[in-house]
Amino acid sequence: MICQQHDLPGLVPGTRHTFNSYHFGQDGGGPHVYLQAGLHADELPGVLLLHRLRRELTVLEQAGRVAGRITLVPMCNPLGMAQHWQGQHHGRFESDSGENFNRHYPDLSERAAQLCREGQLPPRAALRQALAELPQRTALDGLRHALTDMALQADMVLDVHCDSEAVLHLYGNHRHAAEAAVLAGFMQAGATLLCDEAGGMSFDDAVVQNWLRLERQLAQPLPVPFAVTLELRGVADVDDSLAARDSDSLLAWLMAQGVLTGEPLPAPLPPNPPTPLEGVACIVAPHGGVVVYQVPVGRQVQAGTRLAYLLDPLSGERTPLVASHDGYYYARVAGRLVCAGAEVAYIATPHALRQGQLLSA
Ligand SMILES: [Zn+2]
Repeated sequence: MICQQHDLPGLVPGTRHTFNSYHFGQDGGGPHVYLQAGLHADELPGVLLLHRLRRELTVLEQAGRVAGRITLVPMCNPLGMAQHWQGQHHGRFESDSGENFNRHYPDLSERAAQLCREGQLPPRAALRQALAELPQRTALDGLRHALTDMALQADMVLDVHCDSEAVLHLYGNHRHAAEAAVLAGFMQAGATLLCDEAGGMSFDDAVVQNWLRLERQLAQPLPVPFAVTLELRGVADVDDSLAARDSDSLLAWLMAQGVLTGEPLPAPLPPNPPTPLEGVACIVAPHGGVVVYQVPVGRQVQAGTRLAYLLDPLSGERTPLVASHDGYYYARVAGRLVCAGAEVAYIATPHALRQGQLLSA
């Protein structure tokens, strides 16, 4: 295993940030998988999981069982990790720009297509060269650049996040429906949410979109990497027994992909079929209040099922929050004080209900 330290320039003199990537195996013996966690720096279940995976992979590599290549970044966002105000950690948005750490990854496809045509570069090298030509003015630019460059070298990309309160679920592209089903089976993901383009150029979507756009520009099929966001339940699900189970599942998946040697287990069936990301029904609070949940996440619900009620403690009025559609209730917000118009609960349904920008801010 090789540990590489990445240095990011500080915003002002005298400050700097670093993070580590861990590299197992080598090119040529199997696929290259890139895994990162903590891009939203306040989402820690994946940080624990990848820390555990690092220990497991170190032992497996010593036993000669890493056939492909694995790049692991267990805590990938030192900028977000360092953002604290008055006792509260804020890891989703960068404090200087207000930008979501998981949006605005660059579209490299036009320049990469030019480099392929004129410079005769292969697609992967062209995308990396196009990235290298972009200016890096801020620490956030540097972070996005370093993470993107590692992901662009991989055949499979797993960006590990978590939701507020949720069952394990994942986001992917329709192009990789079969690959997503295999991963969802190994991880027993309750929901697999697929789309053609999520909007906002989130990390995993940007990897796929860059390859898809390059494919269109070159008018030739390309080996578009399988890239997903794995939502590792809720923010409070930082737990050794869950991490041990998830680590075993990921190792079984890596074996099935030929990244690790060994007798691969057959892929278990996912608990639910994939559904379109456009089919997510968002249950919205009609007024502010205290939300009291009455049904746990992780079950099929029917339209009209009462999921929670919203209490106005001044009037004493209770407003039922009901499922708007039949579907799989997979996530809800952790904060019990909700504002009027806020999204409170999420149901995966098989039919498109939304279009355009499919991810929250
Ligand atoms: Zn996240």
